[in-house]
Amino acid sequence: MNEQVIEAGRLASLGELAAGIAHEINNPVAIMVEEAGWIHDLLDEGLDKEGNTDETRRALTQIRTQGSRCREITHKLLSFARMIDPTVVEMQLNDMVEEIVGLSSQRARFANVQVETELADDLPTIAASPSEMQQVLLNLVNNAVDAMEKEGGTLTITTRRDRDDVLMTVADTGCGIPRANIQRLFDPFFTTKPVGKGTGLGLSIIYGIINKMKGEISVNSAVDMGTAFTVRIPSAASAQAEERRKKE
Ligand code: ADP
Repeated sequence: MNEQVIEAGRLASLGELAAGIAHEINNPVAIMVEEAGWIHDLLDEGLDKEGNTDETRRALTQIRTQGSRCREITHKLLSFARMIDPTVVEMQLNDMVEEIVGLSSQRARFANVQVETELADDLPTIAASPSEMQQVLLNLVNNAVDAMEKEGGTLTITTRRDRDDVLMTVADTGCGIPRANIQRLFDPFFTTKPVGKGTGLGLSIIYGIINKMKGEISVNSAVDMGTAFTVRIPSAASAQAEERRKKE
């Protein structure tokens, strides 16, 4: 397997940027997609009646598809921005894992995915925003289930302590990620999913959140075998010690 540690430094403020951009482009896109019913009419019948060309059909189809993708992106950014309360508290990651496993159980069952957890009982607390950590876990779990949707499989969430850090791995037995895609995974808008399923924002949002916490995220994947994302987060005690050192 091919391990890549993605360096910190980009996208720290994606959350703040998200709402602004989404608001700006949401209205024009909504008009384009929702009120442009004539595109559907033209595609369904008008083109042939008017004797238009395949080229026009292709162009209109593009407008409809790309418009829909823009709308999904603005919706995802807006709901992310609305959900996020960045207030940091001292929290136990194991509790959040259990909450997300509960929330995801129905979707996992439908996809024939068995969910397993191996949670360390000596896990230190972390200093984090619960709603941000929820986003991190939900996005990782949803991606894992997507990767196993065709054939089912096993999703395993593991937590463990590594000295002053908390490690969490979300592993699946799904389709895996081709080597050529690994470097682009965390780029905003990189997606291999069709319109209606992917925006390419999940991992970049996670990246921004983990980066802000001085953590790290890495991925281990093999095509047709599965993928494991590992998140490393400093414990609350070491984050507080670091803050004190900075103030001195
Ligand atoms: P989205 O899920 O909207 O496509 P993400 O940023 O969450 O956006 O993911 C980007 C891409 O990374 C996905 O489209 C997929 O190709 C790949 N990916 C992420 N997680 C997994 C996984 N567990 N297994 C296989 N591919 C994955």
